[in-house]
Amino acid sequence: MSEAAMPDQERVGVLTDAITHVREKVAAAAKRNVVNAPVVRLVAVSKLKPASDILGLYKTCGQEHFGENYVQELVEKAKVLPAEIKWHFIGSLQSNKCSMLAEIPNLYAVETVDSLKKARRLNDARPAGMSPLNVFIQVNTSGEASKSGLAPGADVDELAAYIARECARLTLKGLMTIGSVAMSQASGHGAALENTEFAVLVAQKARLEAALGLSGLELSMGMSEDYERAIAQGSTSVRVGSLIFGARPPRNGH
Ligand SMILES: *Cc1c(COP(=O)(O)O)cnc(C)c1O
Repeated sequence: MSEAAMPDQERVGVLTDAITHVREKVAAAAKRNVVNAPVVRLVAVSKLKPASDILGLYKTCGQEHFGENYVQELVEKAKVLPAEIKWHFIGSLQSNKCSMLAEIPNLYAVETVDSLKKARRLNDARPAGMSPLNVFIQVNTSGEASKSGLAPGADVDELAAYIARECARLTLKGLMTIGSVAMSQASGHGAALENTEFAVLVAQKARLEAALGLSGLELSMGMSEDYERAIAQGSTSVRVGSLIFGARPPRNGH
């Protein structure tokens, strides 16, 4: 049951042009990095943007993956948008919201798992009749106090082992990070400079795969300002918002 309305033709045109541009850049960056990232998923980050924008991109451009930051907003949008949409929860995760999230049938992934408790709650709440829920462990690669996520190292290994071995309703899909603005500006898009925070995530993944005997873990890293750089370093899933939808309104203003 889909109830959201389509945006007007002008808005459809703006969104189509924007996502086409980003898709071309993603494909070109992925092609340059044949070793690490043959296929890169583009998650369109639609937080604080109307459901009509999402419907327009889905119907006109076939865009299926969308990212949202607020549980209530995601629940409301999921109700009025096509069930084929694959939602990513990318906001900071609270334990008491885990069950509400896990019950959304077309939730594709929770990208911000950073504790055993939250993993357990998601696992317990994911209904048996639904497919297992993909999860990414959020890693704080910049060390900024303002950022969620586990410090790289043993804590990540421990949580990954817990999810892989004890959470039958979850699938450990990969690792996610939000780079610092300073590092993003210093390394930029096309520049040859390595983003050392992204490099930390790459190293963490290699270490984890070796320690747990896993393979094929994904890396969710890169946003509007640095997704090409992230792909150059091996990202398989980029989260791009403002470049597709335009600047966001302040959260309280909506
Ligand atoms: C808002 C957000 C994005 C998108 O940011 P843009 O700079 O608009 O591309 C990506 N990832 C996370 C975790 C976000 O909160």
